[in-house]
Amino acid sequence: MHEVSLAEGVIDVVERAAEGAHATAVSEVRVAVGELSNVEIEALAFAFESVKKGTVANDAKLVIDRPEGRAWCMTCQKDVPYHRFGDACPICGGYQVVVSGGRDMRVVDIKATTPEDSDKADS
Ligand SMILES: [Zn+2]
Repeated sequence: MHEVSLAEGVIDVVERAAEGAHATAVSEVRVAVGELSNVEIEALAFAFESVKKGTVANDAKLVIDRPEGRAWCMTCQKDVPYHRFGDACPICGGYQVVVSGGRDMRVVDIKATTPEDSDKADS
């Protein structure tokens, strides 16, 4: 299952960030999953619950943001909101569009507990 390897990738990032910040535990992991990425949110959340066990993210909560899809419309000559592959440009109705954003998934924030009791461990 695709989402299991994605969740493992998230845990990888979290473990490296926690190590770099000397964090002892991670309380929250925020990921951005683009609207046009081929990721099933429920499957990802489920996979995360299983792969986090025994890691520094054992008690971490997964928060999922859904950044909007974007596309460049050649007719309008601008970036437009784009919600599904195969859709027309929402402004001119044309199909001369190239997806420009919202395709990927990434970790955007990790809340960790460090010995200094700082609650943040960015990158
Ligand atoms: Zn257009």
